[in-house]
Amino acid sequence: MITLNQVTKSFRLGPSWSQVLSPIDLQIEKGSFMSIMGPSGSGKSTLMNILGCLDKPTTGQYVLDGEKIDRQTPRQLAQIRNKKIGFVFQQFHLLPRQSAWRNVELPLIYSGMKKKERKERAFAALAKVGLADRVHYKPTSLSGGQKQRVAIARAIVNSPSLILADEPTGALDTKTSEAIIRLLRELNQAGTTVVIITHENEVAAQTDRVVYVRDGKINDAAS
Ligand code: ADP
Ligand code: MG
Repeated sequence: MITLNQVTKSFRLGPSWSQVLSPIDLQIEKGSFMSIMGPSGSGKSTLMNILGCLDKPTTGQYVLDGEKIDRQTPRQLAQIRNKKIGFVFQQFHLLPRQSAWRNVELPLIYSGMKKKERKERAFAALAKVGLADRVHYKPTSLSGGQKQRVAIARAIVNSPSLILADEPTGALDTKTSEAIIRLLRELNQAGTTVVIITHENEVAAQTDRVVYVRDGKINDAAS
């Protein structure tokens, strides 16, 4: 599903360039349930931004579902993201004053869907994450785990083929964290490829493959 071929990423740092990702080769099979680990500053989020079409490699090739990501305009990249990729973040990134279902329907507004269908789909996605009885709640009256479930419902409402989760359990206690990983596993078993960035060994241990990033290089320790 994903091939990175000699991908590098450099950022301009004053007068010079700083290379954050060394040439990286990585393949991710369709239907994978994997994690990416590594110390702070090692390049995990930079790698995730490339996988998520939020940024492009400086050199090298990124192929997603047979499509080479290189010359697309920002608008075309946004379309690819909206259609294929669901994002989940540590801090949930929900609109606090909007109800759960309003948060979840957002990606559908971007795809231009009619309101009635958006509402149906948002309700269905919330039911899938176990929040059928919380559709009208605002994030401010939900627990951390429930907020992350709303964020996951929003990530899956467009039926993406790939979920990218950057520290999805970083703000949650152990029990809640386990439940969130179980939910991601269920979505994976229903066919979605899931990539989880994490600092936590307990989280990585629940995935089928762990890729380590260190100083912008990857070290693939299959488990
Ligand atoms: P991680 O997610 O593993 O903590 P990041 O990918 O966020 O690491 O960052 C890796 C390195 O790249 C860090 O040294 C960071 O300062 C640098 N970096 C990340 N994004 C940028 C940017 N937009 N401009 C300059 N440097 C950046
Ligand atoms: Mg990071």
